[in-house]
Amino acid sequence: MAWATVLDQERCTGCDACTIACRTENQVPLGITRTYIKSVEVGRFPHPSRQLQVNRCNHCERAPCVAICPTGAIVRRQDGIVDIDQRACIGCGACIAACPYDAISLDPERHVADKCNLCSHRLDSGLEPACVSACPVDAILVGDLNDPASAIARVVQRGSVAVRRPEKGTLPRVFYRGAGQATLDPLAVSAAEGRNFVPSTQPSVGPEHSLAWDWRIAAAAWARSVACGAYPAALLAVFVRGGWADLFWAWIVPAVSLAALLLAGITLLTHLKRPARFYILLLRPRWGSWITRGAAASALYGALLAAHLGLTGSGVAVSWWLGVPVGVVAILTAAVAAQALPQASGRDLWQSPLALPRALTQAIVGGAAVMLLVALGFPAAIAPLGAIVAAACAADLLLGMAEVALPRPTAHGRLAVRELTRGRSSRLFWLGSLAVLIGLSAPLVPPLAALPLAGVLACRLAHLRAGQAVALA
Ligand code: SF4
Repeated sequence: MAWATVLDQERCTGCDACTIACRTENQVPLGITRTYIKSVEVGRFPHPSRQLQVNRCNHCERAPCVAICPTGAIVRRQDGIVDIDQRACIGCGACIAACPYDAISLDPERHVADKCNLCSHRLDSGLEPACVSACPVDAILVGDLNDPASAIARVVQRGSVAVRRPEKGTLPRVFYRGAGQATLDPLAVSAAEGRNFVPSTQPSVGPEHSLAWDWRIAAAAWARSVACGAYPAALLAVFVRGGWADLFWAWIVPAVSLAALLLAGITLLTHLKRPARFYILLLRPRWGSWITRGAAASALYGALLAAHLGLTGSGVAVSWWLGVPVGVVAILTAAVAAQALPQASGRDLWQSPLALPRALTQAIVGGAAVMLLVALGFPAAIAPLGAIVAAACAADLLLGMAEVALPRPTAHGRLAVRELTRGRSSRLFWLGSLAVLIGLSAPLVPPLAALPLAGVLACRLAHLRAGQAVALA
């Protein structure tokens, strides 16, 4: 069977009985909500009216929250319910970033993800969800979409229903009857201001969420990309100028790369709301998640860096025969890790065809810059590393500007680009880009490599913030 919901906004009176029943039934703590009534005032004086819409998890058939969850804590059951096993949640926030409907909250008491599960415990016992039982006007209909004789299948087949953000391709299983565009589309109010709708209140009374992914995610991604760029950049420099037996190649290159990788891992751990559960990622990884794949690739890369150090320590002269495969793994690790943001498909800014090449240039800028700063004590490596920094900065700047100039197919994407280039994240973005531009002079003044190193961090942070700045509900 396939559980689905029809929310009849023509019947809904906005009494909040469903919200309260849900809170009571599921012991939802104060501060978050699994379901709420969105209210938008529309129309022009003297004929204003109010549109209501019940917002909650859509139990998507192609749920991005399920795909991105690294531990498999979110599952889509055989009967179509998308449920969270909170015992397996590590509090990484990936599902919150991925959901295009802002349907997941972080439980402030248990520090795990929380959302509507259609009262699966009640459905499994043959009972109606709490919201259905509490609604005094029968505005909530839950039933089997696969049963053509069911009331819900008949309503949906009549075709008089709408879903939220159909363009995301998630195939929501919550259908709205009688909902207006002003509530279905969180951007409709601002987009139509002065034309169809004149909002007199905030468009939503929904939950206020802090960013699912904060500066620690940007810092961890930056540190990992530095680690992934440092080794191949140094490998190329040593290849050009020689020096396989030098202290620089034998010890410093793998040690600095490994230190950056460890810094990334520690920063990531500090972001987790349940860091003690990190072991779950090792015991039951979901391989479809790019976060899991990134963690596995990082572990492999870290092991190879340790092998480089171990071989050097045991007197083996490591040269290209190990350097080349490790360098390839480093680049692949950067490429794999770069897929995590685009997998958060709820955020349109991150759905860019240039995301992968940009991540690679940022890795080389950061990695080569670190190596150039370290190589100030090793004159032979300075010239080639300076050239790599400058070339990578030029490529990164071009890609960065192309990424913001690229036409965005959705209003969400366009608003996020605006936020990045002219909004609250713009200062970070432009200062970071300026710092990368100054990196072009690294061949002449090597210590200036510190600026593009910081610039890449600033750009990553601005990109992460701007991507989450647009309202989803
Ligand atoms: Fe629910 Fe959002 Fe996951 Fe869809 S993506 S199933 S709306 S939490």
